[in-house]
Amino acid sequence: SFVSREQLATENAMMRLEARKRISSSEFSEQRRARQSLPCWMERQKIVDAVANNRVLVLTGETGCGKTTQVPQFVLEEAEVQGIGAEVHIVVTQPRRIAAISVAERVAWERGEAVGKSVGYVIRLESAPPRARGSILYCTTGILLRRLQKADGMAGVSHVMIDEVHERDVDTDFLLVVLREILENHPSLRVVVMSATLDASVFTRYFNCCPLVNIPGMTYPVKVFFMEDLPQIMRQNSLVASRLNMARTSASDEEDVDCELVATVVLFVAQYCGQGQGAILVFLPGWDTINIVREKLLKTPLLRSLMLVALHSQLPAGEQRAAFARPPPGVRKVVLATNIAETSVTIDDVVYVVDCGKIKEKQFDASRNMTTMRVQWTSQASARQRQGRAGRVQPGVCYRLYTRATYQAMQEHQIPEMQRVPLEELCLQIKAIATPSVVASTASGDDGRAMFQKEIEYASSTGISDIATFLSKAMQPPKSTAVHAAIKVLQQLGAIDQCQNLTNLGKTLAKLAVHPRFGKMLVYGALLGCLDPLLTIAAAACFRDPFIVPVSRREEADKMHESFARGPAYGSDQLVLVSAFNQWSIANAVGSGNSFCEAHFLAPTTMRLISGMRKQFERTLSEAGLYEPWFRTSSPDVGAHVARSLLTAGLYPNIARSELCRESKGMKNATKHAYRWRLGFRVQNGRVFVHPTSVVSEKHLNPSMQYYLVFQEKMQTSQVFVRGCTLLPPLAVVLLGWNVTVCNDAGPTVLSGDWMLLEVEGWLRFHIDRRAGLLLLQLRH
Ligand code: ADP
Ligand code: MG
Repeated sequence: SFVSREQLATENAMMRLEARKRISSSEFSEQRRARQSLPCWMERQKIVDAVANNRVLVLTGETGCGKTTQVPQFVLEEAEVQGIGAEVHIVVTQPRRIAAISVAERVAWERGEAVGKSVGYVIRLESAPPRARGSILYCTTGILLRRLQKADGMAGVSHVMIDEVHERDVDTDFLLVVLREILENHPSLRVVVMSATLDASVFTRYFNCCPLVNIPGMTYPVKVFFMEDLPQIMRQNSLVASRLNMARTSASDEEDVDCELVATVVLFVAQYCGQGQGAILVFLPGWDTINIVREKLLKTPLLRSLMLVALHSQLPAGEQRAAFARPPPGVRKVVLATNIAETSVTIDDVVYVVDCGKIKEKQFDASRNMTTMRVQWTSQASARQRQGRAGRVQPGVCYRLYTRATYQAMQEHQIPEMQRVPLEELCLQIKAIATPSVVASTASGDDGRAMFQKEIEYASSTGISDIATFLSKAMQPPKSTAVHAAIKVLQQLGAIDQCQNLTNLGKTLAKLAVHPRFGKMLVYGALLGCLDPLLTIAAAACFRDPFIVPVSRREEADKMHESFARGPAYGSDQLVLVSAFNQWSIANAVGSGNSFCEAHFLAPTTMRLISGMRKQFERTLSEAGLYEPWFRTSSPDVGAHVARSLLTAGLYPNIARSELCRESKGMKNATKHAYRWRLGFRVQNGRVFVHPTSVVSEKHLNPSMQYYLVFQEKMQTSQVFVRGCTLLPPLAVVLLGWNVTVCNDAGPTVLSGDWMLLEVEGWLRFHIDRRAGLLLLQLRH
């Protein structure tokens, strides 16, 4: 928007005045004291100069040194006192939603303001944006990427600061590629890349050897012990010695963690180190191991002097806060954490780190269409990061429950997310990013025809022309097989054409901000007037599973979960969610949403997020001309039945057909009776079982019947499982699958009179009434 020179001058002068007040008045003394105690403060001038003199700057400093809260402030304040405050608008990206809000609130407080004036935030579904000029915006990386879909997305932005780049999440890596291109076309834009890990050479190299500023931390030395050192230092304790011998004989790189050993070392530290002082931080791969170690520690006589807390990203914020509490005198804090405690959160009083060296990581293999969830060794970089957590208040100790040789064999860095996840969403976003050619084509045209012409031009000229070429410019590009698999899915969904041009459907799918598979279901749902259940299904796909399973009340939770699988939601994980959401909505409308959640083991925050996301989808669909509020089915049951079939339109070719399989019962030399029959499922190339968390359970299915299901994800753990399953009529596959080939198109196999056999894609066979089958074949043409 246009702003006159006079107004800019007025704003500049006003900001200068306010800045002076903040620098001197006693009203801000508390804020000043807090800020001046941070390591960042000592480097203030150096940072300000480096930002002013370089277009790109990499800034490193350990968690808590003040990068996120101070660096944007330094830059804004410097401009304020120089009388050019209104010319600054800083966008700071955060990988996590919660961080964006809490940091904005903190910085607003430091500036003596409420959020939404010179400091604000925008995250999906929630925003308190700051004023356009003279301000700092904290937003999630995804929000900035969305803004870049508009040709003027960067208008008015003077600085972009990308925070927590060391996490290497897809969005951040993607944004880095885009920014590198944007820097060429925006001569005044400045970029600051901020990382909590010290080794930032990957980032400086990526930006053409740009300068690096490191903020020295206030860290103390940390002594490191490896597995082979433990017997000597723990000689006092015979129990430890015997445990260690056992642990050393078991293979060290198997998947699981020796929880007994972890507990033993924790108890050793609690008992013999530091005279009861100094918190112990334990790194474990996930929820299950945290719970096992916790159970073991709960049984010790030492428990009275311990304060046990778990720290896991799935814990509600309130429970996470317990990890930061100071224990009463004589009580020792033991924090059992995932790698969330590695960089994202900092517990101030840690002196001892016990590192099992493992991490649980999800990896997607595009060539097998398979997700694996494996516990594996971390990297050397994260081992060092974990070690550093012990030296924040005094010299610390780190116990690594693995050998030096294992450490040497670890990879240097973690594999970035871009190389581990399905890439459809990313590829679609790449196509939707506005490029200078789009700016030119949208600038002209006035009458209706020109508008139409523009639409077509947009559809054909938008974005980056070749996805693979673009992705090859990423810091660590994904495998080309993964990229091509994603492109193929997008083409089959109709989001891009054979030349990778974004189609009109693709344009809508990109705006929907959900995986295009779910976007496509939404579009179908809107056109067929059964949007409601699909809104819930798609919204839920954006967040974590709302069903909570507390370890101590697992059975109860499972029973409650299954109770939603009645009526139209029978045999469908997606529709169970819809049913739970609908019942919650009714309860929530009369103010009892939270108690409903408690009784039904649902996460209230997730339910609210789903509700908000549904509204956003509705808005986007109606903006795309796809949604008329009156065009809805009145009965939720009918909607659910249609939705069941429509899942195929998005999830194809993730289809499975039931099949009895013989499974040996664990005995090696299987005799005649040593196996049992199980209901498994056949997929395109292989056999799978339904994951135990699914409501589609063997115990509810009749082994002599033939079932068909559609699934969201194929996952390898101990076996290959499918998750997110819905039983469906096979006809839906023929009608709604993508480019389905029905093998007996030419001459249908007629079986006993009135039946015919349809063979879809060469493996999905089913019997159908002959007349219906012939009709169906005709409809497909
Ligand atoms: P970094 O980005 O380098 O990890 P931050 O700028 O986020 O560091 O935080 C610097 C310091 O500011 C923290 O160590 C903490 O003491 C304080 N701080 C940050 N956010 C909050 C908050 N929401 N409430 C209280 N203190 C905070
Ligand atoms: Mg930070």
